[in-house]
Amino acid sequence: EPFIPKIIKVNYIEGSNDQKWSSRDFPWTKKLEANNKKVFGNHSFRPNQREIINATMSGHDVFVLMPTGGGKSLTYQLPALICPGITLVISPLVSLIQDQIMHLLQANIPATFLSGNMEWTEQQEILRELNSDYCKYKLLYVTPEKVAKSDVLLRQLESLNARELLARIVIDEAHCVSQWGHDFRPDYQGLGILKQKFPNTPVLALTATATASVKEDVVQALGLVNCIIFRQSFNRPNLWFSVIPKTKKCLDDIDKFIKENHFDECGIIYCLSRMDCEKVAERLQECGHKAAFYHGSIDPAQRAFVQKQWSKDEINIICATVAFGMGINKPDVRFVIHHSLPKSIEGYHQECGRAGRDGQRSSCVLYYSYSDFIRVKHMISQGVAEQSPFTPGHNRFNVANSGRVLETNTENLLRMVSYCENDVDCRRLLQLVHFGEKFDSAHCKKTCDNCSKIKSFIEKDVTDTAKKLVELVKLTGQQFSSSHILEVFRGSLNQFVKKHRHETLSLHGAGKHLAKSEASRILRHLVIEDFLMEEVKKSDVYGSVSSVLKVNQSKAHNLIIGRQNVVLRFPSAINSTKLSKSDVTPAKGSLMSGKLSPSRNDTPSQPQNEVDLNL
Ligand code: ADP
Ligand code: MG
Ligand code: ZN
Repeated sequence: EPFIPKIIKVNYIEGSNDQKWSSRDFPWTKKLEANNKKVFGNHSFRPNQREIINATMSGHDVFVLMPTGGGKSLTYQLPALICPGITLVISPLVSLIQDQIMHLLQANIPATFLSGNMEWTEQQEILRELNSDYCKYKLLYVTPEKVAKSDVLLRQLESLNARELLARIVIDEAHCVSQWGHDFRPDYQGLGILKQKFPNTPVLALTATATASVKEDVVQALGLVNCIIFRQSFNRPNLWFSVIPKTKKCLDDIDKFIKENHFDECGIIYCLSRMDCEKVAERLQECGHKAAFYHGSIDPAQRAFVQKQWSKDEINIICATVAFGMGINKPDVRFVIHHSLPKSIEGYHQECGRAGRDGQRSSCVLYYSYSDFIRVKHMISQGVAEQSPFTPGHNRFNVANSGRVLETNTENLLRMVSYCENDVDCRRLLQLVHFGEKFDSAHCKKTCDNCSKIKSFIEKDVTDTAKKLVELVKLTGQQFSSSHILEVFRGSLNQFVKKHRHETLSLHGAGKHLAKSEASRILRHLVIEDFLMEEVKKSDVYGSVSSVLKVNQSKAHNLIIGRQNVVLRFPSAINSTKLSKSDVTPAKGSLMSGKLSPSRNDTPSQPQNEVDLNL
């Protein structure tokens, strides 16, 4: 099918460095500070909170990028409290909404939510209240499905707006808008209708996870106008990162790690399949840990029970799929262990982000094996990987299995693999680069495995390879993803390469002699150093997105004409125990016949079990 790429142009303004928003002279400043103390019990504002509130209360569209636990809720709950009218909040999960409303009601802030699951009479009652001139509610929560499917709600909002009572529209977890993100929710894409219908109502979009491409996607899909962006560093200095080779003794290693470093402390172990969760939990119980499992197919009562035990510290360790985590607000999670490979760097960052919210030192350990990569890849291609609780099953069939989304998912996975196989660069740097953030690895201060290795490095001049990679990007027309460029460079003869006749190019196979991980490091480095740029493309036909590599002419020119060299550090001893296979294509038979069977449990036969999204 034709894939017509179109470059997205988005207008926005950086707000983070604008002193204007830090001012304490806004008409509402006194009220703001008083209510922050009195109602919310906070002594002060956290970074960016005051600024965001001032910008949204000034009537601007605002996009907020703030790490998990940073305090995003306050930035709309406080304005909701002191502005006349009602704030509409779109949030992806009913359980999240209920949790928020419970907290609001405890603070005596009248809030409610509308859901299709409610008794009709109950809905009627809320609608009647919204219609009244003395409506008591300050916040109304709904899920995106409700906006997409309920005409009653839209009419109600129109009526509120006509009476000048629609104060603000808040889109929480805004990254769900983007297919490029790890939690794509089709119904979020329909939220653009809100800006169309209510062009004068300020929109506040919040997320903890957005790469440059996700951000552009969100701003465009929501139709935000001249929006102001607030962002802060995603570095979490109190988290210690490491990647450890996964062997048959992995569970012993985990047991030992916890006993030595975090005994009787609280942690999460993320597993790939439901069966893995149960096996890992059982094993840890045998080793004397207070562990339980949590995944999409245990019933809601049991789920609630496990969560409660966990929050009361009757259980320390939860072995879970990614279904566990959204809205988990435990401040003293001391470790997050990944028993298998996460599906994307964004997902990984988010999952690790659940550790150490109280700012105390916490560990993030990832057990990596190449065979897990094959396993995850298989699950992704079959559409059977456990999703975070957002993704309703039917959408997964319609959307997630379409070719381009599959490609995106595979690309995300490959990046995760290259993160794991990199045993040189700072883990923080590798993660933050993914969020478009520059990070000086000197600031890591040996808090990641790669930075703390006592290892000698040799500097290698890779200018020649770098030049060829840049030339190859040009030669193929600047329209392919980094994984494709790497395949051509290393001489792959797969279908896609042949389809585009890339096997006939002079540079096809020019990097044959390089290990996959080495070639990929060099390519990544070229992006980090701005010789190459990664750009989002959107297909007009399907509305889906992917990223392509482009050449940054001005910088690349110096490289090509020999005015600039590229030097990279490599470990000086050739490490033969390295996990990387020389090629991503598995050898015959290495699909681990039989071992894939646990994932069969994850067929999305009853995906609706995951969440009560049937609004
Ligand atoms: P996010 O949505 O960004 O993940 P939340 O809004 O859930 O974060 O806030 C995380 C925690 O931080 C909550 O327990 C909240 O009460 C607390 N918090 C938020 N703002 C402040 C503040 N200014 N002072 C103290 N605690 C705060
Ligand atoms: Mg939040
Ligand atoms: Zn580091």
